[in-house]
Amino acid sequence: MSRTVESRPSGSDTKNVASRPQPPTTRALASTDQVHASALPNWLRILNREVVGCTRCPRLVEYREKIAREKRRAYMDWDYWGKPVPGFGNPNARVLILGLAPGAHGSNRTGRPFTGDSSGFFMYPVLHETGFATQSMATHRGDGLALKNAYITAAARCAPPDNKPTPAEIANCSSYLDREIEGLLELRVIVALGRIGFDAYLNHLKRRGLLQGKKDYVFAHGAHYKMPDGKILLASYHPSNQNTNTGKLTRQMFVKIFQEARLLADM
Ligand code: SF4
Repeated sequence: MSRTVESRPSGSDTKNVASRPQPPTTRALASTDQVHASALPNWLRILNREVVGCTRCPRLVEYREKIAREKRRAYMDWDYWGKPVPGFGNPNARVLILGLAPGAHGSNRTGRPFTGDSSGFFMYPVLHETGFATQSMATHRGDGLALKNAYITAAARCAPPDNKPTPAEIANCSSYLDREIEGLLELRVIVALGRIGFDAYLNHLKRRGLLQGKKDYVFAHGAHYKMPDGKILLASYHPSNQNTNTGKLTRQMFVKIFQEARLLADM
C-alpha cells in the first residue's frame, strides 16, 4: 500500500465560466445517442438501458422528475433529461472517474455526467489539458465530446436533494457500479472524486470479498493506494462549487491528480 498526500495551496485559480448553449433539438439528441449507443459493447448497452429505466429509489425518482418539470429559470427552454444518468466514456478506459451523483440542473438536465454545470465546467478543461478528453467544453449530449482512456460514473445515478444521496440509495445503485467495474476490463486506476466516491470503491471491493475493513484507506486529496484487486485508488476532492469557489480545490491541484492518474495507469 502506498500513500501520498498533496499539500493544499491557498486561493483559487479557476473561474467557472461558461456561456449558455442553445438547447439541442430532441431529434439531434436522439440521433447522437444512437451513434454513441452503437459504439458500446453489448453488456454496456444493456446496463445503460436498465440504469435509465431504474426506479429503485422512490425519493430520487420523485426529486429528479420534479426538477425536470419545474426547471431553473435559465433553462426553461430545455427539455430536461429527468432520469438516471448512465456512465460516459471509453469502454477500454484505463482510468475510471468515480463521482457522487448527477447535479439537479447539470446532468439531470443534459443526461450526461458532469455536463452543463459548474463541476463539469471545472473538470472537462482539466481532462482536456491532461489528454483524457477531446475538448474542454461539455454542454449537452451531441456536443462532440469524447473521452480518451477514461470512463466516468457515479456512486448514485439520480440527482439527490442537496447533492446528498442516502446510504440506502447508494446501496441500491451499487449493483450498477459493480457491473460497470467488472465490465471495464482495462481499468488500472480509479480516481475517486470526494469521500463518497472513495467509499463507493471500497464498498465495491467489500462486496467482492476482497476487502475486510476500510480503516487502512483514509481519504485525503492526492492519496493513492494499491488495492487488493490490483488497481490503484487515487483520491481527489470533488470539483463541486463548494470546493472550487473556496480554493480548497484549485485547477492546478486537479491537473496534478489527472497527471498522476496517467502515470499510475502507465499511459
Ligand atoms: S439512484 Fe440508482 S438505484 Fe436509485 S433510482 Fe437512481 S439509478 Fe436507480
